[in-house]
Amino acid sequence: MALAESLQDVPLWVGGEARRSSSNRRSTVYNPSTGQAIAEVPLCSAAEIDEVVQTAAAALPAWAETPAVERARVMFRFRELMQGQFGELAALVTREHGKTIAEARAEMQRGIEMVEFACGIPSLLMGQSLENIATNVDSETSRHPVGVCVGITPFNFPSMVPLWMFPVAITCGNTFILKPSEKVPLSALRLAELLHEAGLPAGVFNVAHGDKEAVDALLRHPKVRAISFVGSTGVAKYIYQTGTAHGKRVQSAGGAKNHVIIMPDADLNQAVKALQASAFGCAGERCMAGSIAVPVGRIADSLVEGLCKVGQSMKVGPTDGSGSFKPGDIDMGPLITREHRDRVARYLDVAKSEGADVALDGRAFDLPGNGFLLGPSVVDKVTPTMRLAKEEIFGPVLSVVRTGDLDEALELGRQCEYGNGACIFTRSGFAARQFKRHFNAGMIGVNVGVPAPMAWFPFTGWNKSFFGDLHIQGVEGVQFYTQQKMTLTRWFQSADESAADPVWKTSANGK
Ligand code: NAD
Repeated sequence: MALAESLQDVPLWVGGEARRSSSNRRSTVYNPSTGQAIAEVPLCSAAEIDEVVQTAAAALPAWAETPAVERARVMFRFRELMQGQFGELAALVTREHGKTIAEARAEMQRGIEMVEFACGIPSLLMGQSLENIATNVDSETSRHPVGVCVGITPFNFPSMVPLWMFPVAITCGNTFILKPSEKVPLSALRLAELLHEAGLPAGVFNVAHGDKEAVDALLRHPKVRAISFVGSTGVAKYIYQTGTAHGKRVQSAGGAKNHVIIMPDADLNQAVKALQASAFGCAGERCMAGSIAVPVGRIADSLVEGLCKVGQSMKVGPTDGSGSFKPGDIDMGPLITREHRDRVARYLDVAKSEGADVALDGRAFDLPGNGFLLGPSVVDKVTPTMRLAKEEIFGPVLSVVRTGDLDEALELGRQCEYGNGACIFTRSGFAARQFKRHFNAGMIGVNVGVPAPMAWFPFTGWNKSFFGDLHIQGVEGVQFYTQQKMTLTRWFQSADESAADPVWKTSANGK
């Protein structure tokens, strides 16, 4: 049998069941640890997307009418099923993405917390009211689902990023279509099966696969009302512009370039450890990765020395147990594809050609097997105008931009076109406060390497890291997936009514 024939053909999930796609276009899914193809994912046509949207639209009225507490109960059951399958779900993330099993478990934990947040949504759906806003007039607001919602997600968190979206959208009474990254389509399907097992009615949650053709069909479909996107900035902007031009609500999170400031009074060991985890965790494929270290003043030399030392000590290898490697022994896994790995590695040549100093070269590591591996790199003496300081690399390359004072460090933020996260390591409350108030980014860490908000808080990217108004996660997520209705009610008693029958007599309104 030819290899291609033995590959899993990834199904869609439509109307409560797995279904083979009718598309004749396919893209290959790899296990990044081994470099081997593991599945073929269909790339849906616009016609097939229309079928999925019609299914989600048909399921909408009954689901929107289902009491909010019953919708939340499905999430309680879903949460229990996820918890029961925790190890299996994490292993699937590792298989299709390549991150270490510890990182995959952390991803699943963050995802479960989103479901726990969704379990409490009924109390966030409550409206406001003011009785007697005018004589005999009461005013109230209520929250209603928006309709068919769509999530388009990136490769770097195959489970967690979809879980940022659909538990909230569904519990708010919407139906949902997830279009996961074609590089990691498997986790989404497993979540669909568990939702089904949790008792979610058919058609409420659907998974469609594809590339630009499928995405464009979703962006333009008249029955789609809201779109959540997470991915690179160029695509995020396109999604926002196209979606809003077609009358949809859009929340669109893009790429990032995150600064980590290290003041001279910082606990150096803590800062180095945190930077190692921030820059090289998940092989640097995180929108909250600290990708630029900014030592302020005299700490620079010892910081670079410390970073090179910990980087050098990292064990880079396959994370899926292939070969002779125990998955638990590996500190850093592969990148997502060979092309992406090569692109990241080329930045080390760019660094040299621009005059920076490659203090630790990830290409020099002993990299076992055929996976898409690259060791951690530290590039010192990067200046703010160099490409390494400006472009999102999305790999284990940490640039070091040395600065003379805190103001200079704050200026780096003002010059940066992104604005996801930024951190400071210091013992000075005043420096931390200045940084928190004035750094030009939406998520701030103080003595924390990855300031990613937990489920109850919004993911507040700024600048070109986010397009839209209401962010993903937290109460803003509930606001995004609901529309408000304001009702004014006036009741009055006619003179005839009370005159005809004294039983209606009342002294209301002080009369
Ligand atoms: P990507 O933009 O290439 O793809 C994201 C999604 O968009 C995928 O589902 C893909 O199929 C689709 N897509 C790709 N090109 C498209 C096009 N031209 N038209 C329409 N749809 C298209 O991103 P990626 O490489 O999968 O993920 C990495 C990026 O995601 C990084 O830039 C990272 O910073 C970003 N990210 C951001 C956040 C955040 O919260 N801000 C979180 C995670 C990842």
